[in-house]
Amino acid sequence: MATNSSCCNNANDKNTQLHIAIIGSGSGAFSCAIKAAENGARVTLIEAANVIGGCCVNVGCVPSKILIRAAELAEQQRKNPFDGLKNNIPKIDRALLSKQQQNRVDELAPSKVSKYFRIKYCTNVSERVCKL
Ligand SMILES: Cc1cc2nc3c(=O)[nH]c(=O)nc-3n(C[C@H](O)[C@H](O)[C@H](O)COP(=O)(O)OP(=O)(O)OC[C@H]3O[C@@H](n4cnc5c(N)ncnc54)[C@H](O)[C@@H]3O)c2cc1C
Repeated sequence: MATNSSCCNNANDKNTQLHIAIIGSGSGAFSCAIKAAENGARVTLIEAANVIGGCCVNVGCVPSKILIRAAELAEQQRKNPFDGLKNNIPKIDRALLSKQQQNRVDELAPSKVSKYFRIKYCTNVSERVCKL
């Protein structure tokens, strides 16, 4: 991040605030954007995909944990050693699990940005003009 102290002295003055553009909106971009915003800069994330958040939120860390946890519980149920607990074969509804995954992803992605009023973003950069 460029450090021009005269740019960031008055964080409320939009004319003198340092404005940083970051390509992408994944975990790396976000940590950079949050640090810059905390130091008083305005930040715009420029994302090629049609959603923000990159791999971790959309297809990596977050959705994988829903399936991993569901699989753990199903495995425990299948291997349940207690004679007094019946129905050991879990009934798996893949469509419902996928819906729950997507709901969690949808819930997390926008909220990451909305906490930081200095961070704006645009998606689909190849098709849409970025409004800074
Ligand atoms: C299934 C799975 C599970 C995972 N689980 C974990 C976990 O539990 N813990 C963990 O720490 N890590 C986990 N990871 C890894 C983690 O998701 C990645 O390390 C992390 O997302 C990398 O972040 P990034 O910002 O470097 O890249 P990305 O998240 O890939 O972000 C890059 C962004 O830049 C955009 N972009 C690329 N080129 C351009 C361009 N020219 N113009 C505009 N935008 C562009 C991309 O569309 C993308 O949104 C997991 C990964 C996977 C696949």
